[in-house]
Amino acid sequence: MSMISIIVPCCNEEESLPLFYSEAVSVLGSLGNDFELLFVNDGSTDGTLSIIKDLAAKDPHVRYISFARNFGKESAMYAGFGNVRGDYVAVMDADLQDPPSLLPEMLKILETGEYDSVATRRIDRRGEPPVRSWFARQFYRLINRYSDTDIVDGARDFRLMKREMADAIVAMPEYNRFSKGIYGWIGFRTYWMPYENIERVTGKTKWSFWKLFKYAIDGIISFTQAPLSIASFFGFFMTFCSFLALVFIIVRKLVFGDPVAGWASTICVIIFIGGIQLCVLGIIGQYIAKIYLETKNRPHYIIAESSFVPEKKVG
Ligand code: UDP
Ligand code: MG
Repeated sequence: MSMISIIVPCCNEEESLPLFYSEAVSVLGSLGNDFELLFVNDGSTDGTLSIIKDLAAKDPHVRYISFARNFGKESAMYAGFGNVRGDYVAVMDADLQDPPSLLPEMLKILETGEYDSVATRRIDRRGEPPVRSWFARQFYRLINRYSDTDIVDGARDFRLMKREMADAIVAMPEYNRFSKGIYGWIGFRTYWMPYENIERVTGKTKWSFWKLFKYAIDGIISFTQAPLSIASFFGFFMTFCSFLALVFIIVRKLVFGDPVAGWASTICVIIFIGGIQLCVLGIIGQYIAKIYLETKNRPHYIIAESSFVPEKKVG
């Protein structure tokens, strides 16, 4: 009988956790498969860990990992993938925005053998500030145009996948993790299941606009070199323009002599070119910063305690 593992990254979810647990268990219990809930406590500062411990004490289906501090959802998912035992693996938010009620249908699709993963995609952005939606849409347009990896708009991290896919994710040890890109990069046959956006049950999202913006930049830097190409293009273009200007100035001097004039336009050109140089340096700097982090080879997470012996304590 196949086993289903659910990875649940939790950061300050003491209010949502009990609701999530009871809903998840009632759905998973009705499936007839063996299952496990792997909670990853990502440095919560509220009672999340003690709630998880209580659940683990009374229910053998529950296992947990607790980080030494907050390492972010990407690291929590990475730790989860490295420690699941199931034949099918899913990642779910603790706030019930990823409804467990979709699981039976997802499992049915996987069991036909036609697909390796079933991913969810929200079809609307209801309940989201319009400015945020606009930026999100532009981001997906941009990254899909310039990256070879297919990154789907509205895709959530909630997906049920075969074990092989989870193993492939574990084999991608990059430090700057952008899971939507990673899922796209590893490939496999994915069925997209649309569903309507659901508000969180309690608490509020941990994503501020700027955090999301930074995450989007991370995604772009990690999955496309287009900004570097654009920078080089600008460099060539400016060189070409300056060559034309040089010819123009020499010809003008030969024909009209050299009255002193035009310092204002000179300053404009200097500022313009200086600005472009700084922009380009900034773009290069972004990539160098990522290389720097990547070469330091720091672990993604440090496990402080867990209900079992994890694959790696520091991974
Ligand atoms: N989360 C986490 N570490 C973090 C931030 C979030 O493990 O640093 C978890 C959080 O507990 C939740 C999931 O990631 O289970 C999604 O977070 P949230 O609901 O804040 O994001 P949203 O649904 O708004 O994208
Ligand atoms: Mg959420």
